Amino acid sequence: PPEQLPPDPSKKTIVVLGSGWGSTALLDAIDTTDYNVVVISPHNYFLFTPLLPSVTVGTLNGRSITQPTRYMVRYKTREVQVVEAEATKVDVANKKVTFEDKSEIYGNLGTVEVPYDYLVYAVGSENQTFGIEGVKKYGNFLKELGDAEEVRRKLMDCVEKASLLGQSEEEIDRLLHFVVVGGGPTGVEASSEFRDFVRDDLSKWYPAVSGRVRVSLIEALPNILPMFSKNLVEFTENVFKENEIQILTKHMVKDVDEKSVTVQGPDGKIINIPMGMLVWAAGNTARPLTRDVQAQLKGKQTNRRGLLVDGHMRLVGAEDSIFALGDATATDLAPTAQVANQQGAYLASVFAQLSRADRVNSKLEEAKRFGAAPEEIARLERKLKKMLDISQFSFTSRGAMAYIGHENAIADLPWGSVQLSSGGVLTGVAWSSAYWSLLFGIRSRTSVALDWLKVRIFGRDLTV
Ligand code: FAD
Ligand code: NAD
Repeated sequence: PPEQLPPDPSKKTIVVLGSGWGSTALLDAIDTTDYNVVVISPHNYFLFTPLLPSVTVGTLNGRSITQPTRYMVRYKTREVQVVEAEATKVDVANKKVTFEDKSEIYGNLGTVEVPYDYLVYAVGSENQTFGIEGVKKYGNFLKELGDAEEVRRKLMDCVEKASLLGQSEEEIDRLLHFVVVGGGPTGVEASSEFRDFVRDDLSKWYPAVSGRVRVSLIEALPNILPMFSKNLVEFTENVFKENEIQILTKHMVKDVDEKSVTVQGPDGKIINIPMGMLVWAAGNTARPLTRDVQAQLKGKQTNRRGLLVDGHMRLVGAEDSIFALGDATATDLAPTAQVANQQGAYLASVFAQLSRADRVNSKLEEAKRFGAAPEEIARLERKLKKMLDISQFSFTSRGAMAYIGHENAIADLPWGSVQLSSGGVLTGVAWSSAYWSLLFGIRSRTSVALDWLKVRIFGRDLTV
C-alpha cells in the first residue's frame, strides 16, 4: 500500500463502531483527507453475511467471505486506525467511547477512552432469544463467523456420534435431527444448506446414517419468509417438501434443553421434539451497548427495537455528534445488508459535505476577524447555509434473494414500477453470481470461486 498521512490532531476525529456492512460501506467511500478515522470493532474484519449459511456445511471456507478492515482502508489518504476491541461504553454527553481489551494474550490493556468529534454507531444487533435461557446454552446462532464454524463442528459431531457402534436407535434419530428455529431468510437458507450437505456428501460418506437425517424448520407465524411474494413462499414450501425439509409453521418455541426443543403447536398443545443440534434464527434485538445509549437519552430514545435517527441518520438526542445506521437503528426499513450498505455510503457523502462546510466556515470566521466587506461575509454565510442543507438519506431497493436448496433460489426484484418474482435453478445461478459480484474485492471473489470449484470436484470437507 502507498504511504499514508498520519493522524493529525488539528483535524476532527470520526470514531466508527463496528466493521460490518454499514461501517465498511462508509470506510470504502470516505475521504480521510480532512478527518482522523478510528475504527473499533471486536473483529478486525468485515464479514459478508449473505454467504455465511454456506460456511455451516463447509461449502465455503469462513475466511473466504471475510476481508480485513486494514486491507480495505489501505489506499485512504490518511491512515485509518483499526482497533480490535469491543466498545463497552459510549459517553454521549462527553463524546467519548470506552473500549475494552479482551484479548487472551498476556498484558491486557484494560479499558481505554477515545474522544470523538463524530461517532458512527454501527454495531448491528444481537440475536433475540425472548428470555429462553436454553437457547444460548444449548443452541447455536448464525450471525458471526464463529457461529457458522461452531455449527459445522457440531453438525459433524452429531453425525460421528450417531455413527458410533452401540448407539441406540432412538439416540441415532435424536442426534440426526437438525432443528432450525425461525422461518426468516436466515433459517430458510441454513436448513437448505443442511439438506444439500446430506444429499451431496453425507449420503456418500455416511450411507449408514445419512438416510436418517431429518431437517426441521420451526416458525411461529402461519408462513415462512413473510418478506417474499406469496408465490415464492409457495415455491419454497414445494422445494422444501421435495428436499424433505419439514416445515412446522404456527409452532412457537417455548423452551430449549440439551436434547430437545419444546414447542407450542397451533392447537395450543405442547410438544417435545428431540434434536441433536438447534440453530436459532429467530430475529434481532438491540445490543446492551445500544440499550445503554438509549438510557442516556431517556425520553428521546423510546424504541425497544433500536436507535431512533432522523432523515440524515443523526441520532435523535445527539444530532450534532452521533450518526447511527444499520441493524442498530429502528427505522421503517428492514434490517438488511442492503440498507446498511447504502446508509454507510450516504454517510461518507455527508462527511465530505461537512468538511467542505468546515472549510467555508473557517473562511467566514477569517473574513469576520479581518473585517471583510459585509457583502463578502453575506456571500460566505449563504454558501455555508447551502452546504449545510444536506439532502436526507433515501433508500433504493434492489430487491431480495434467498437460497432455498438443491441449487434453487428465489428472487423478488424491482423492475421499474413493477416487481418481478422468480424461483428455480436459473434464479440460483443469478443468486450466486449476484452475491459473488457483491463480494468486496478480488481476494474474496477468487477464494469463493475456488471454494465452489473445490466442492464440485471433491465434495465438501468432512473434517472437524
Ligand atoms: P453488522 O454487519 O452486523 O456489523 C456490526 C459490527 O459491529 C460487526 O463488525 C460487529 O463485530 C461489531 N460490533 C458488535 N458489538 C460491538 C461493540 N460493542 N463495539 C464495537 N463493535 C461492535 N441482508 C441482506 O440484505 N441480504 C442478505 O442476503 C443477507 N443475508 C444474511 C445472512 C445472515 C446469516 C445474516 C445473519 C444476516 C444477513 N443479512 C442479509 C442481514 C445483514 O447481514 C445485516 O442487516 C447487516 O449485517 C447489518 O449491517 P450493520 O453494519 O448494521 O451490522
Ligand atoms: P427474521 O426476523 O426475518 O425472522 C425470524 C423469524 O423467527 C420470524 O419469522 C419469527 O416469527 C420467527 N420466530 C421468532 N421467535 C420464534 C419462536 N419462539 N418460535 C418459532 N419461530 C420464531 O430473522 P432473520 O431471518 O435472521 O433475518 C434478519 C434480517 O436479515 C431480516 O431483515 C432479513 O431480511 C435479513 N436477511 C436477509 C437475507 C436475504 O436477503 N437472503 C438473509 C438473511 C437475513
